[in-house]
Amino acid sequence: MPRERLDSMDNGSMNSNSSSSGAPRASDLYGTLTFSGDVMLKRLPSDVFANLQRTMRLGLALDPAIANTVASAMKDWAIEHGATHYCHWFQPLTGSTAEKHDAFLSLTSEGGAIERFSGSQLIQGEPDASSFPSGGIRDTYEARGYTAWDATSPAFLIRTESGVTTLCVPTVFVSYTGEALDKKLPLLRSIDAVSLQAMRILRIFGTDAGVNRVISTLGAEQEYFLVDADLASERLDLRICGRTLLGAPPPKGQQQHDHYFGAIPDRVVSFMSEVERRLFELGVPVKTRHNEVAPSQYEIAPIFENANVAVDHQMLTMHVLRSVASRFGFECILHEKPFAGVNGSGKHCNWSIATDTGVNLLDPRDETHTNMQFLTFLCAVIRAVDLRADLLRAAIASAGNDHRLGANEAPPAIMSIFLGEMLTDILDQLESGKATKTRKGGSLELGASSMPQLPRHASDRNRTSPFAFTGNKFEFRAVGSTAAVAWPVTVLNTIIAESLDFIATELERRAGKGATKAKLESAVRALLKDIVSKHRRVCFDGDGYSAEWHAEAARRGLLNLRSSAEAIPVLKAKAAKDLFAKYGVLSSRELDARYDVLCEQYLTVLGIEARTLLAIVRTQVLPAAMRHQGELADILAATEAVGVESADGTAELRHVAASISSLRDACRRLEEAEAEHPKTSEKQLRHGRDAIVPLLLEIRQICDALERRVPADLWPIPTYADLILR
Ligand code: ADP
Ligand code: MG
Repeated sequence: MPRERLDSMDNGSMNSNSSSSGAPRASDLYGTLTFSGDVMLKRLPSDVFANLQRTMRLGLALDPAIANTVASAMKDWAIEHGATHYCHWFQPLTGSTAEKHDAFLSLTSEGGAIERFSGSQLIQGEPDASSFPSGGIRDTYEARGYTAWDATSPAFLIRTESGVTTLCVPTVFVSYTGEALDKKLPLLRSIDAVSLQAMRILRIFGTDAGVNRVISTLGAEQEYFLVDADLASERLDLRICGRTLLGAPPPKGQQQHDHYFGAIPDRVVSFMSEVERRLFELGVPVKTRHNEVAPSQYEIAPIFENANVAVDHQMLTMHVLRSVASRFGFECILHEKPFAGVNGSGKHCNWSIATDTGVNLLDPRDETHTNMQFLTFLCAVIRAVDLRADLLRAAIASAGNDHRLGANEAPPAIMSIFLGEMLTDILDQLESGKATKTRKGGSLELGASSMPQLPRHASDRNRTSPFAFTGNKFEFRAVGSTAAVAWPVTVLNTIIAESLDFIATELERRAGKGATKAKLESAVRALLKDIVSKHRRVCFDGDGYSAEWHAEAARRGLLNLRSSAEAIPVLKAKAAKDLFAKYGVLSSRELDARYDVLCEQYLTVLGIEARTLLAIVRTQVLPAAMRHQGELADILAATEAVGVESADGTAELRHVAASISSLRDACRRLEEAEAEHPKTSEKQLRHGRDAIVPLLLEIRQICDALERRVPADLWPIPTYADLILR
């Protein structure tokens, strides 16, 4: 991995002794709870170790001949670390992780007990999986699902507060017929698809020497909120939906921008530090922590890794954030939009592709490949995002993310690419063909030889773009903070594979195999020129939030799928099915299953939000408002009884009474809308978008207006100021 080289920890301080506070050093903790390469080296016979390393490096299936040996070593190691149980850990279509624990305990024929973990138990499991969503795949065939060890991701130990320790074996989850029931298997297939096509490009440029495969790299930055657990527990909406369904904006929000990168409060740093400690033990290389834009909002980011490992580590990061929070009296909120009126949370997926020899193919400055090859990969991305913007949008669709993407917030639902001035200038050169003049000495330079060094930290210059080039990688910023990133990365890889395939095929056709350098060069130049002129409409460096961009994007013919109701059906289209099938990522049935599950989840979320809001309004807000009304009436009556007229008081009373009545009416309409179940999934999605979502908003507006009038001692739930302005 290029990790050490590209993102090196500061070597200068690496050999200092453990910190003066006596806290253990990160490097000592790192990976101590993983069945890592080091552990394997120590515990496995050398031939078995070599075999397993090859499997992991090349992404191959595990050799059954070594499974027993590996399982036995893994069990001994786990038991020495206090584990009593093992589980196959996988990522079902729910978007979370799933595990079913089995004890190592096994009875002997002599009536005793021993710990056992066989090769077959390691390689394959059969969870009783009938209640995982399958989008209909299992109903038609076999109810059973199987989990199979993904040897490319290390096994690890999960330890609870009280020390209960479980060996977790990362697995894929498939049906009896071999269809993917999870998010991991399609990801692995998409990684293979990119590798296959990218290798063709390397061969064309003659840069494939010593390269076995191309890997996808991923570093996912996670944004989250921390609120007091006690206060959060008093709000049914936070407890059930993970977001507030009502709440008036506090007098001070994020207007002063004083939170971003500000000093981190002590209790929060202690929390972060404990999260990091746990993640280090699990071999998750977290590196960055800081305050985010909104009050009480924070971020954690890792050093990037192979995408197949990074997605597992991202799931673990969410798990650890949530579980450690309670120890510090916090509730960690991962929702995309927990609080109206302040920024929501995203998960920036930093993505690139690299050779297994450590060359980042999207790094224009890497000496080991020419700029022309870089431009070819860059153009492949531009073409893919333009042609398949609909799929990229569908990949991040969820009820929660709709609050960010469709709203006037970062980033918009229009998929566009930020390139920055220098690359934009190079695209101009490519398109105008001017680049020919700058050719030097017959090398493949395409005018890009004069390409200045790109500033590495370019990303924050444009925070409004959903897909930004940030010096040596792309940053897919539109991904929601609760998302399981395997799916967006799968889609991204697949559309890139298609573009690379197109480019490789075109170059082979135009230049012929074994073309001379000059012939190849002119073929590349002509092809990139075509691609740039056709697809650069997707590039936009300006303010993605502005109304002008929405108008301009419409003029350019770019899609603006504002909500999940528009985005999810993209997966039903023939074009999508053909694409995923062609690259062996998802069969038509597997894609249908994802469509079904996404629809179901969208509707389930809206249903739960509707019922939660109704409960809060009827049992908390309305009673408080009526108490207020009663008090007002009493005061008014008493005031008038002593002969003092109070026009203001009467108006206030009327106003409160009117709000109560509108609130009741809106609740009745929401209840009716919620009870309606249109027949087709498309109609259900639209019903959610057009009936439920607007009513949730209407009710919240009445509640928020009431919150500003009802006396604080009568208001039944913690306010935004209580929750996020600490
Ligand atoms: P910034 O986004 O502020 O420029 P960094 O350059 O440090 O900050 O990158 C942010 C994230 O991108 C980190 O998680 C980092 O590991 C990841 N990253 C850096 N290089 C790559 C790469 N080649 N592939 C994938 N992720 C990367
Ligand atoms: Mg960043």
